[in-house]
Amino acid sequence: MVERSYEKYFRQNRLPHLWCPGCGNGIAMKAIVQAIEKKGLSQDNTVIVSGIGCSSRASGYMDFDTLHTAHGRAIPFATGIKLANPDLNVVVITGDGDCTAIGGNHFIHGCRRNVDLTVVLFNNNIYGMTGGQASPMTPLGKKATTAPYGSVDRPFDACKLAEAAGATYVARSTAYHVQHLVNMIAGGFDNKGFSFIEALVQCPTSYGRKNKMGSPADMMKWMRDNAVMKAAWDKLPDEQKAGEKFPIGLFYRDTAMDYDTAYDQVIERAGGAAK
Ligand code: SF4
Repeated sequence: MVERSYEKYFRQNRLPHLWCPGCGNGIAMKAIVQAIEKKGLSQDNTVIVSGIGCSSRASGYMDFDTLHTAHGRAIPFATGIKLANPDLNVVVITGDGDCTAIGGNHFIHGCRRNVDLTVVLFNNNIYGMTGGQASPMTPLGKKATTAPYGSVDRPFDACKLAEAAGATYVARSTAYHVQHLVNMIAGGFDNKGFSFIEALVQCPTSYGRKNKMGSPADMMKWMRDNAVMKAAWDKLPDEQKAGEKFPIGLFYRDTAMDYDTAYDQVIERAGGAAK
């Protein structure tokens, strides 16, 4: 049997996973371990923290020190881990509902503090696990069990939200653009501060079925056809940015001081020994 290099990153006794056939969560989960391998991060020194939802099941499958926490609370758990041991690489896996609804306040304040975390939001545009309710990232007009005639709530652009709230690395990719997604996550590992990567993933069961988006492959073709690399996006006239087109790539990077360093300075000012 061929041994694949990434298999060591998964708990074989927890597989197969419970995601639906054709779900994009597995692609995003594998992209994280590919980025970990690409950057040569130590498996023993990396912690995976997740909230609640389909995406957050990933922490159970990944063979790291992992915490599967409460709904919306992955970022505060991760902040505590990072402050207790700043040498750890702390990765947060969250979903659009987990991160921007119940966890919305934790998200913006994690960004504001510039905690040195890498947060990967698996955006399936809906609450998948709980039955297909609209999330704060369900696009306008798209159907959900709580929006049978189409959502009228304007969705968050989580990347713009992260940048406005103070994150120092902000990027987006999709489950179709796998190598690009790996690179966006790997770039987040290089940033000492709050890194936010939105990974658009197909949810054929709850989102795709309600919105007649076809098979999982059709949903991935939709990503291929509508995602525009940032350099090309910036050159598009405004009328061509309308409709379902959306940009992917690295949107923002800054070198503001991260929270661990700022906190060490507080400890020094208070007369203690910084970590
Ligand atoms: Fe994936 Fe959607 Fe199924 Fe959840 S409901 S496992 S996001 S396909």
